[in-house]
Amino acid sequence: MPLSTKTTTISHFINGVETTGEGNSILPVRNPATGQMTGELRLANEADLNTAVAAARKAAETWGDISLAKRTAVLFKFRELVAAHVDDLAELITAEHGKVLSDAKGEIGRGLEVIEFACGVPQLLKGDYSDQVSTGIDVFSFREPIGVVAGITPFNFPVMVPLWMAPMAIATGNAFILKPSHRVPSAAMLLADLFTQAGLPDGVFQVLHGDREVVSGLLTHPDIDGISFVGSTPVAKHINEVATAHGKRVQALGGAKNHAIVLPDADLDNAADHLAAAAFGSAGQRCMAISVAASVGDAADLLVKKVEERAVAVKVKNGTEPDADMGPVIGADSRNFIVKTIGEAEAAGAAMVVDGRDLVVPGHEEGFWVGPTVIDHVKTEMSAYTEEIFGPVLVVVRVDTLEDGINLINSNPYGNGTAIFTSSGAAARKFQRSVDVGMIGINVPLPVPVAYHSFGGWKASLFGDKHIYGPEGVSFYTRGKVVTSRWPEASHASGASYNFPSS
Ligand code: NAD
Repeated sequence: MPLSTKTTTISHFINGVETTGEGNSILPVRNPATGQMTGELRLANEADLNTAVAAARKAAETWGDISLAKRTAVLFKFRELVAAHVDDLAELITAEHGKVLSDAKGEIGRGLEVIEFACGVPQLLKGDYSDQVSTGIDVFSFREPIGVVAGITPFNFPVMVPLWMAPMAIATGNAFILKPSHRVPSAAMLLADLFTQAGLPDGVFQVLHGDREVVSGLLTHPDIDGISFVGSTPVAKHINEVATAHGKRVQALGGAKNHAIVLPDADLDNAADHLAAAAFGSAGQRCMAISVAASVGDAADLLVKKVEERAVAVKVKNGTEPDADMGPVIGADSRNFIVKTIGEAEAAGAAMVVDGRDLVVPGHEEGFWVGPTVIDHVKTEMSAYTEEIFGPVLVVVRVDTLEDGINLINSNPYGNGTAIFTSSGAAARKFQRSVDVGMIGINVPLPVPVAYHSFGGWKASLFGDKHIYGPEGVSFYTRGKVVTSRWPEASHASGASYNFPSS
């Protein structure tokens, strides 16, 4: 692939300075809509990692001690700067990820919500106080930062997922090192610049680019206290095992296979609108995408027809086009996997309703395209059901009853998100209480929690016990202290007691 004339070198951000570091390895960054190489990413080596961790350790000591008023002043300013640079951030996202600009702005909006929540950190860190638990004795508890945290993030949300982590870690007094996905590195550098403009001291937020070698260094480095990870399940499991074995606190969010149950009493037009949007938005590359429609009873034929109508109407274009609904997938490897998996379903006897394999986008023949695809009569043993395809593919599994749908969901190894479409409150309530899934939508297809509720799946969708951002994020990035205090007045000595203290 020839170098584009616009190729840029993407550096690290270490201790307040943009630097190419000491590592010699380089990875290409491509625009998925054109296939063109747009950047050269410098990968950090061990020396770069050690420099960043040393800077973070030093920064954490002062930042963790700084007043809440000063910390939040930086966060308020950062919030204003991110809001003022939504267009710039969105352009970087679309250029490297491919999603349409409006969708890119949507993910920045969800990231802004987390910054706003983090601005309220004084309220969140207030602690508890019990007066006079025994005569003259008070007990109070509060939380302190854990120290240095590394965040390792996936390609599909270049801004939102780093913002799920960094504002929370920084607001609670930690230093944070971001290792973004090597496929979408540029937005992280703009975030670093905005943090600096907001007045964040050097070393509190750093960006270190790299692949598995850098990640290994982060997981095992003795001066890193916590790891926040979001990505695929095999990597999440590996991160959890290695980092916990090295004494670190870990939250590792993994992949998904999200089912939507559609009952015959649902408004089928509404359900079809939402299914199409949740399956094909961002080319299906969302951890909360709906990739399985479990159609109950006699709703199936009509539902599939309605989804088909919507799938063929999706405008697939370069994400910079104002009327684009959907952009490309992230790379050639991803495209090949999606196409292969669709073919396996067809060969195994599933019904191709809409087939996006041969899509060509005029003027963008070198881009990584797959059109919206709908496959009916999919069986649970087919790879289109067992694999997280992570592309614009909706598989339809037909079930007889709500109970069968719930059993289907609970038999699946993943448990990230799910949804039900129905007009029955009783069915919805049974569903919400019965599914082994972390985030549930009732007539809502993408139930990504708002910033003041935490985000997290169950089963193979999350390793570690803390969900991300919201109250559980505060808990993850801090550790508790409990103080039992007595201030005796003079001459109250009553002699030593050798029994276990009780009130
Ligand atoms: P990925 O697991 O390939 O990569 C995630 C991060 O881990 C990247 O920074 C990458 O450089 C690093 N990495 C990759 N392989 C590694 C290895 N062997 N050792 C150490 N580090 C490694 O994920 P991706 O393809 O970038 O993102 C898509 C995946 O992320 C999907 O499975 C999706 O469901 C998942 N995801 C989950 C959530 C969630 O909240 N649960 C959110 C977004 C994405």
